[in-house]
Amino acid sequence: MKAFIIEKDLIRHNIEVIKSKTDAVIWGVLKYDGYGMGLVFMAQMMKENGITHFAVSDIEDVEKLRENGFIDEEILLLQSTTVKNDIKRIIDTGVIATIGSIKSARMLQKTAYEKGTTVKAHLKVDTGMGRYGFLQSQIDDMKSVYNNHLNIQVTGIYSHFSCAFCSKKTTFKQAAIFKFVVQKLKSSNIDTGMVHISNTSALFRYGSFGLDAVRVGSAFIGGAINCNNTGLKNPGHLECEIVETKWLPKGFTIGYSGRFKTKKPMRIAIIPTGSYDGFMVGQNHDLCHIKHFIRYILVELKNWVKKYNPSVSINGKSVPIRGRVGHGHVVADITDLDCGSGEVAVINVGALYINPTLEKYYV
Ligand SMILES: *Cc1c(COP(=O)(O)O)cnc(C)c1O
Repeated sequence: MKAFIIEKDLIRHNIEVIKSKTDAVIWGVLKYDGYGMGLVFMAQMMKENGITHFAVSDIEDVEKLRENGFIDEEILLLQSTTVKNDIKRIIDTGVIATIGSIKSARMLQKTAYEKGTTVKAHLKVDTGMGRYGFLQSQIDDMKSVYNNHLNIQVTGIYSHFSCAFCSKKTTFKQAAIFKFVVQKLKSSNIDTGMVHISNTSALFRYGSFGLDAVRVGSAFIGGAINCNNTGLKNPGHLECEIVETKWLPKGFTIGYSGRFKTKKPMRIAIIPTGSYDGFMVGQNHDLCHIKHFIRYILVELKNWVKKYNPSVSINGKSVPIRGRVGHGHVVADITDLDCGSGEVAVINVGALYINPTLEKYYV
């Protein structure tokens, strides 16, 4: 038995924490299969707990939500696109499009016109992410989307922070550029609609920047990089049965590369999980400053010298993993623990890196 266990109470708890942080509208971001929790499940949890606006990154996700009863909800597609087939699907699903280029606007306009309908959209301003969005200098194009595309109804405008988790200076600079653009549009008598920029790290570190909405994703699964004492909790963990136990003699190696050698007889538990399921994957090193980089190198060096081992929990006790974490197997040192086959190891994993084919249990 191996499964990803998701605790609903902890997700509800996170939703309450997020709501307590802001009075602005909260767009619940549901990228990456609802941040590993399951797209439809996560949307349902949000809906039951007062989140009314959703954001996704792929048009497939919009279709899936619509098929699963999210018919009238406001869903924002975070991707600006100039792919013809996607444009059609945007119009058919009634999702709120993101317009990040004049080409995208023209294609949406043409298709909406041909289908005899209008499409809702938010404009995206690129203030330093280097992905989707109009540059600050393209203000005339932005005005034109508001004014000259009759089958596009622009209901909002947003930008995205690149360094909210690590650089206050860059973040405030991006916010200033964005506000400047919004102000320029407003001074041309344009009703910009809903204005938003903050993601999780920005919300927890600086708030909503006085704007109408925030877009939050990782906070729902407990993540907020470089934010202290958020009160958020990780709602998911991996559970995997021990399939065999045995004694190894002194001087025996464990795992690939054979770098780990027992110093005395050791009783081990074989647990058939590993990096393939997400264990020890994607430890996020945000080396955005030289001091982070040096700290990272020192920690890695110390771990290497000390042959640091991650741990799992069996019967409520933390036990070390010995030898390398394999793709499909890890070996725990249970010399001091009375446990056997069929008992469950509880394993910390990042939900974003979990093997999506793992069985999910919602408890
Ligand atoms: C992913 C994403 C978010 C949410 O980011 P979190 O840090 O997970 O809260 C917000 N806006 C955009 C455009 C995104 O791509």
